[in-house]
Amino acid sequence: MNQHFSQELAQDLLRRGYNRRSFGRLAALLAGGAGLSFYNEPALAQFSNIGALPDGAVKINANENPAGPCPEARAAIARVAGMGGRYQYEEASIFARALAEAEGLKPDYVMPFPGSSDALHRMILAFTSPGRSLVLGDPGYEAGERAARYIGAAVHKVPLTPSYAHDVEAMVKADPNAGVFYLCNPNNPSGTVTPRAAIEWLLANKPAGSILLLDEAYVHFTEEPYGTSLVAKDRDIVVLRTFSKLYGMAGLRAGAALGRLDLIDRLRTYGAGILPATGMAAATASLACKDLVKTRRAEMKTLREEQFAFCEKHKIRYIPSVSNKWMIDAGIPARELAWKLAAENVYIGRSWPAWPSYARITIGTAAEMARFQQALLKVLAA
Ligand code: PLP
Repeated sequence: MNQHFSQELAQDLLRRGYNRRSFGRLAALLAGGAGLSFYNEPALAQFSNIGALPDGAVKINANENPAGPCPEARAAIARVAGMGGRYQYEEASIFARALAEAEGLKPDYVMPFPGSSDALHRMILAFTSPGRSLVLGDPGYEAGERAARYIGAAVHKVPLTPSYAHDVEAMVKADPNAGVFYLCNPNNPSGTVTPRAAIEWLLANKPAGSILLLDEAYVHFTEEPYGTSLVAKDRDIVVLRTFSKLYGMAGLRAGAALGRLDLIDRLRTYGAGILPATGMAAATASLACKDLVKTRRAEMKTLREEQFAFCEKHKIRYIPSVSNKWMIDAGIPARELAWKLAAENVYIGRSWPAWPSYARITIGTAAEMARFQQALLKVLAA
């Protein structure tokens, strides 16, 4: 048992119904620390985990943002890098305060993390168990599902509605003993929105003692209201924030769990909690750039609409997304499409068992999308 796996946590887990086997797996998982490679986007992506890509590869597989951090964030990184011999704990506190202010929350409602994967993973460990399941949309982001299965919690996958929203009524019906309702808005992979009224309905009708885990990794690309106003009302909700997407900081690592103190406090036990000063300082600097979200959102919208126009021109079925990725059905199985495009040095995202004909494509730079379109037409003509 390592330092992260305290007696107190062990007792809590036993109380929550972990048996010897799931308990042992959880211990091994926690002891793995940073090696929890199964839960993040690169580990899930079909083509981002294959080592160095060839020169000139178009990498549109992992919903990254090729724009990278804004200039102010880069300057902040340079500032703290020189002091890299120190832990610089204060950078995380400064970030948490800045994020709380930006989100209209009390400072203790913000728990900073190195991205949102860690927080997502800990939420599953803290609020599901062999007796309390995870309920999520299908297709949906799989990281939480994998963590739940790993520790022996049941998983209920509920198909999206015909308009690609989460079917919140079916989700609530799925299990009266659910521990976590995971709702990604806009969804990954579909890039589609679940209306605010549905989210509020879920909160009002979910079983007592369960939690809504609202993953807003891509919300900055949309006009949707942030879920933080529900956090501020002290509801049973934790919102996940990340700087990996619109803010262009996937490799730098900054994010947060936003929720009532009694909820996010339960995440503390599951890790050592030291955060990268570079990621923290860059996130703080990004928050101070008032037009960044608006500008990048508008740029993404233009690029996205160009992709939709291309699909329509060539009669390629697609799902209208509001995010930095969208899904296409090019008339051949998505996996086959991915391999054929890889032969053209274009690496697209994975597909989901629920929709095997649809592939997820990340929207990269204009030049990358031109290369993608050219390669796609070549593959389809062959
Ligand atoms: N949540 C969703 C929906 C994602 O798509 C991703 C990554 O792609 C994450 C969370 C985790 O990202 P990160 O740990 O970089 O914040």
